[in-house]
Amino acid sequence: MSSRAPPVGIDLGTTFSCVGVFQAGKVEIIANEQGSRTTPSYIAFTETERLLGEAAKNQAAMNPTNTIFDTKRMVGRRFDDAVLQADRKLWPFAVVDEGGRPLVQVMYRGETKRFSPEELSGMLLGKMRDTAESYLGAPVRDAVVTVPAYFNDSQRQATKDAGAIAGLNVLRIINEPTAAALAYGLDKGLRGERNVLIFDLGGGTFDVSVLTIDEGSLFEVRSTAGDTHLGGEDFDNRLVGYLAEEFRRKFKRDVNENPRALRRLRTAAERAKRELSATTESTIQVDALMDGIDFYTKISRARFEELCMDLFRSTLPLVEKALADAHLSKAAVHDVVLVGGSTRIPRVQSMLRDMFNGKQLYASINPDEAVAYGAAVQAAIISGDKSANLQEVLLVDVTPLSLGIETAGGIMTAVVERNTRVPCSLTKTFSTYADNQPAVTVQIFEGERALTKDNNLLGTFDLVGIPPAPRGVPRIDVNFDIDANGILNVSARDASTGRSQAITIRNDSGRLTRDQIERMVADAERFRAQDAVARERVNERHRLEDYALAVKRALDEVGSRLGDEGARQRATAACDEALMWLDAVPDASKDDVQRRFRELQAVCMPVMTRLHQTGRNTGPTIEEVE
Ligand code: ADP
Ligand code: MG
Repeated sequence: MSSRAPPVGIDLGTTFSCVGVFQAGKVEIIANEQGSRTTPSYIAFTETERLLGEAAKNQAAMNPTNTIFDTKRMVGRRFDDAVLQADRKLWPFAVVDEGGRPLVQVMYRGETKRFSPEELSGMLLGKMRDTAESYLGAPVRDAVVTVPAYFNDSQRQATKDAGAIAGLNVLRIINEPTAAALAYGLDKGLRGERNVLIFDLGGGTFDVSVLTIDEGSLFEVRSTAGDTHLGGEDFDNRLVGYLAEEFRRKFKRDVNENPRALRRLRTAAERAKRELSATTESTIQVDALMDGIDFYTKISRARFEELCMDLFRSTLPLVEKALADAHLSKAAVHDVVLVGGSTRIPRVQSMLRDMFNGKQLYASINPDEAVAYGAAVQAAIISGDKSANLQEVLLVDVTPLSLGIETAGGIMTAVVERNTRVPCSLTKTFSTYADNQPAVTVQIFEGERALTKDNNLLGTFDLVGIPPAPRGVPRIDVNFDIDANGILNVSARDASTGRSQAITIRNDSGRLTRDQIERMVADAERFRAQDAVARERVNERHRLEDYALAVKRALDEVGSRLGDEGARQRATAACDEALMWLDAVPDASKDDVQRRFRELQAVCMPVMTRLHQTGRNTGPTIEEVE
């Protein structure tokens, strides 16, 4: 390692941290050695070593008293601080008082050791620095580090100290919402005052901030509101509670009695939760969860949303509060920006969009990376990166139209939303639509309409060789990468085989003119209501289809054990008939589809009830339909 690496931006989060760098004309979010772009803010001490990030989090169940998290809740606080005392009751590790300062006490290599919150945060920053160094291949020294807008002087100073402990020269501490606004270039090319609302729902905290950007330069935080104990981990808890109950019902065992089983269930639940942001159903599979019993089940997005609805909803009054404190009406907000991993949840997005009367949200930079992204931009500006590319990036180069692919039913599913800053690289996960489907066709469109037939086709390719699997199981990661010259690369990768396929689309090949773009955006506005109907219609069709397939599969598995062959065959036939009807009447109205659904349910319900009563159903559960 010779020359020095460029300065980095670090988002030191309560539950996850993220590091980015501005290099070769764009911001790169740097993946850790496990390939993840965010790293758990966890530190563990064992008999032999110190672990950081994923390695630390993974062994938390076996080593609860020496696995440290939530250090961000401690930094810059006195031991007798009321917040710290309240949190301390929830932590499995010990926090002791040393001259009024809180210290975390652990067993490390057979000895009792005490660490200050700054040292612990320093270890996390050191981990992020290492991640950046191994990517950049040079020593990293300078960094911009972010903190919540409401952090006081002592918390900011403590974060700076943590940086110094990690051997970093902290160029500046900036506010997380400010970094997010920078990431979207909301500071550029704009006249007059602009009001920006940043909605940050992360792993353990929810923060709303209202910023005013004046003449592109001055960022003023006008108000903040939030809930310091609301986030993705609460959603995980709800899901774990639900799954534990199902396990208890099926197998008469309580996972709550077994910390290791509970932790494994939590890991599976979190994975499923993430998946449900991209697909409408997810599979949970934990081998030998408890007493050698394999736990295998499914959870639908609808069910997950229902479990968490009150939590999602509780964010809205806090948005109102932040607006009231800033003396702003909703209509006076120019931009709404989504930040934090939990804003990937579609329901959270739609709720907020509805609150702002259908306003387009800034959500195109991965929300859990937006803060590190902005910090990296800030770092480049401070260090005087005069590269033409930086100027370009900062001159709000955005995608004029959403870019996406066609999904079942001719639906436009955007991967890159309109107004996303370029260059950018975004990935969404998709899956197959039929059982044992060997290939998928990726059709790339640009436009704002709900159905692809109203948008502009840019290109098509096939990804083949998908191993046989039930529908919805294969993971196909579709990546849209737009470089500084506006060249779009789309690739699709089958996660199980690693097989991939890609296409390059230049700005000149079939792209739209400025007039056409403006017309498409205007049309989208005009057809919003109509498009919503179209989208709902397709959703209802999927619901009916999912139900019919799931019932068929369950009845097929249980076979003659059900004990009422007549009823079983009648229900199977009704499912087949519903599926055929869907094929035969592709333009059936939403009401017609719902009616069909109720009819099918009426036929299947008694059989399904009976099937559950046989108690022998170890296959996928059938979702009750709301
Ligand atoms: P922090 O709050 O520590 O800054 P993040 O903003 O990275 O952390 O948010 C972490 C939370 O986001 C975790 O609870 C994680 O499960 C959740 N999350 C990450 N990706 C997704 C996703 N695709 N869908 C739903 N939740 C997600
Ligand atoms: Mg965060």
